[in-house]
Amino acid sequence: MPLELVTIPCLKDNYAYLLHDAASGETTLIDAPESGPIFAALKARGWHLDQILLTHHHWDHIDGVGAIVEATSATILGSAADAHRLPPLSRALVEADQVKIGTEIGYVIDVPGHTIGHIAFYFPVSGLCFTADSLMAAGCGRLLEGTPQQMFESLAKLQQLPPSTLICSGHEYTAANLAFAATIDPENSALKARIRAVTRARSGGHPTVPVTLSEELATNPFLRAQDPYIRQHLGMADATDAQVFTAIRALKDKF
Ligand code: ZN
Ligand code: FE
Repeated sequence: MPLELVTIPCLKDNYAYLLHDAASGETTLIDAPESGPIFAALKARGWHLDQILLTHHHWDHIDGVGAIVEATSATILGSAADAHRLPPLSRALVEADQVKIGTEIGYVIDVPGHTIGHIAFYFPVSGLCFTADSLMAAGCGRLLEGTPQQMFESLAKLQQLPPSTLICSGHEYTAANLAFAATIDPENSALKARIRAVTRARSGGHPTVPVTLSEELATNPFLRAQDPYIRQHLGMADATDAQVFTAIRALKDKF
């Protein structure tokens, strides 16, 4: 049976996620922006938290860890590369390491760029990937520590996942990301349709995550550097995909 996924809005525009395995009763949290909404989500379902998976060291993804561990004694797993600036880890992870929830296995994918030690967690059986501030809904994280080339390669790995994979990212930035995307890819009808759907969702107060990888491939300009229209629109018909990506990232920083 696939894992049950709960999307939890936190802080102003962050998301945490719970994954629950009904057969074993095990529950895992991905990122802990704050403790209150996570305690409430656990309590509402009568779940006990066993494990916390951390994507990267930024405070808006780890601030709730202390209070949650104190209350639940959950284990903490995060990137070995960032062990010195994450809460004390029960286990330090490197690329291709496995994490377990019940009988389901998740795989660690290194996705540096936003930070050097940023990792994603991919659960193939349930078709879920937790990407936080690497691949984001209609965008990608700002390059606070890594290079454009690193982020380009990180996104290239995530693009290889099955298109039906649900991308669970770390923030509600979708509307702003789409407004930028429309300046890069103005004739894209899938993008126009997504802007309408996201506008509806936000006016109803609904999250715009998770979203399928196939929708990202069709509308996220950071996954579309190879698109002939975008390349022509940017005057970069003969550039490499990495150069086009770098130009799009630079334009987004100024948007
Ligand atoms: Zn971050
Ligand atoms: Fe963040």
